[in-house]
Amino acid sequence: MQKVIAGGSYSYDTNALKHFFEAGFHRIGLEVAGRSILIKPNLLTGKPAEKAVTTHPIFLKALIELLKDSSCTVFLGDSPGYESLERVLKNGGYLEMLGSLGVRITPFTEEIVKRADGISPYKEFLFGEDPDRYDLVINVPKLKTHGMMGMTLGAKNTFGFVRGFAKGRWHLRAGRDRDLFASIIVDIHRIVSPTVTVLDGVLGMCGDGPSNGTPVICGMIALSRSAFALDAFVESHLCPRATLPVTSCARRHGFLDHYEVIDVGVPSPVTFPMPQACDTDWSLPAPVKRLLRNIFLKKPRISRRTCQLCGVCGTVCPADAIHLQNNTMVFDYTKCIRCYCCQEMCPHGAIKV
Ligand code: SF4
Ligand code: SF4
Repeated sequence: MQKVIAGGSYSYDTNALKHFFEAGFHRIGLEVAGRSILIKPNLLTGKPAEKAVTTHPIFLKALIELLKDSSCTVFLGDSPGYESLERVLKNGGYLEMLGSLGVRITPFTEEIVKRADGISPYKEFLFGEDPDRYDLVINVPKLKTHGMMGMTLGAKNTFGFVRGFAKGRWHLRAGRDRDLFASIIVDIHRIVSPTVTVLDGVLGMCGDGPSNGTPVICGMIALSRSAFALDAFVESHLCPRATLPVTSCARRHGFLDHYEVIDVGVPSPVTFPMPQACDTDWSLPAPVKRLLRNIFLKKPRISRRTCQLCGVCGTVCPADAIHLQNNTMVFDYTKCIRCYCCQEMCPHGAIKV
């Protein structure tokens, strides 16, 4: 049975976090000494840590120090939304810390075809980095809401292995079908197959995540060899009434069975509003759900007062549904697939759903 080690911390205290990681690794029987390790945080954009968009630098520092104390060779990488990894690390306040700890930066910019015989209809995925190059992969997600999938936690974080704008192509293929997109995420997660997932939920994000929601102190830290079990635990703790597609998909296909929660100080759940765009599972047959979603799924809209006309939304939109017209960004809702990538990536928080 998979174990989820779940604890609490209301601040980013390096020593307390190191202690949690060390004790947690011991409880799940994970030996790291002398290994080559790739850390995959959530580095969506280069926003400051207090915005809760990315894995907190001190959370990473505590983990890296522990690994360095165990003579590991540490690599760290991600494929951010639209900026370069270097820029995200600089603007997010990571660069100096990573340099001082001797971490090797790995931008996920290669073209590596990974094959899957999974549950989605797709059999090949283009990755920006090969997780098989490392002895261990440590997946370090942020606890956040997500417009399309409800929440982004451990399993969704490994979607970042997909190279650059190829991520948008998967959104386009899945369209408004969240169950299909969930099956793609499950397949990608199973290819990456991280050794352990370590969740930064000290400062989380609720509301209209994953990049412009409301930061909230959740005080949650957790780790598990199974990201599906970890995600299921966090969801049941914070939003017990929502049935979220990735966890449901993993459960339906037998990747999430029973799991044991080892409680080492889980905090009481905070009030955690979900994104407006997220519907919960309506317990209806799939074709009916699809029809209702097409009718009722909320549209992204731009605040013209906040928009800086930077063009990022048009660049990341996988459906080519946003264009500059008469000095404003305009949506073509007949093309829009409601993936909310535009809302996720707008650097100025100008898109709401
Ligand atoms: S990304 Fe945001 S700020 Fe930039 S053009 Fe689109 S809506 Fe405007
Ligand atoms: S307009 Fe926004 S929500 Fe619609 S397809 Fe483009 S990125 Fe996705």
